[in-house]
Amino acid sequence: MILAIALVLTFLVAYMAKQKGRGPIRWFIYALILLPVAFIHLLFLKKLNVKNCRNCAEEIKEQAVICRYCHTPVEAEN
Ligand SMILES: [Zn+2]
Repeated sequence: MILAIALVLTFLVAYMAKQKGRGPIRWFIYALILLPVAFIHLLFLKKLNVKNCRNCAEEIKEQAVICRYCHTPVEAEN
């Protein structure tokens, strides 16, 4: 039972990490090893700055020069 709760929380950490623009697989492994640490770490984690591509409307990183989805050059906004 405890194991099931831990597994759900591990998936939750991975999902929340994805929502914050982080690699979910890396966070899944992190949570698998150090669940309480990863959980608390994630709560203090800032969301990465993102913007939407003007061509395909997908979310890309603010620092991106080329869209990762449609490979259209995007101008940097300062
Ligand atoms: Zn795009």
